[in-house]
Amino acid sequence: MPAPLPPDLAAALERLYAAMDADYAAVASACGFACRGCEETCCRSRFEHRTWIEFLYLRQALAGLPGDRRDALRARAREVLAARRRDAAASPACPLLEADRCLLYAARPMICRLHGVPHRFTLPDGTPREGPGCAAFHRRVPGPCGERLDRTPHYTALARLEAECRRRLGIPQGLRRSIAAMLAAEAV
Ligand code: SF4
Ligand code: SF4
Repeated sequence: MPAPLPPDLAAALERLYAAMDADYAAVASACGFACRGCEETCCRSRFEHRTWIEFLYLRQALAGLPGDRRDALRARAREVLAARRRDAAASPACPLLEADRCLLYAARPMICRLHGVPHRFTLPDGTPREGPGCAAFHRRVPGPCGERLDRTPHYTALARLEAECRRRLGIPQGLRRSIAAMLAAEAV
């Protein structure tokens, strides 16, 4: 397991998260959308996160919880993984979801921050891409909104931070891990 995240990298990630949140809020506000009272929370979707820096930041936030809470979360994470092994189509909630709230909201990873509003981004070769909002967005905002969240600067900045994190901590391989797998596998 890599060493803890250096404080300057944690601070840089916090600044990036704040920029993501601000851009998301601007698009949501322009479209008249609020991610509240959702019927099909995206916290039930399967997603594997790709950066060590976000994992280490989340681990740091987890370490701030009391030991019995961490034990309970790890047990819940193992249940989530077991449910997915039993039924590939199962969609158990993320183990950090409790009473419709994210237990570590301030430390949630990038995709949890950016999902929901229509977006666009540009691939490194210059190819433009667009994606829709979540189903709840398009139900609540049925007409064209015109605004799209440009994920490109956020993807680029996170990739830079991830490269710096791996270089400084000597992490040779990339990461591909769900929140449940992060919690279940690691001594947090
Ligand atoms: S980390 Fe939080 S926001 Fe992301 S899927 Fe889990 S509960 Fe939802
Ligand atoms: S982003 Fe969309 S799917 Fe996810 S919780 Fe918000 S409204 Fe629901």
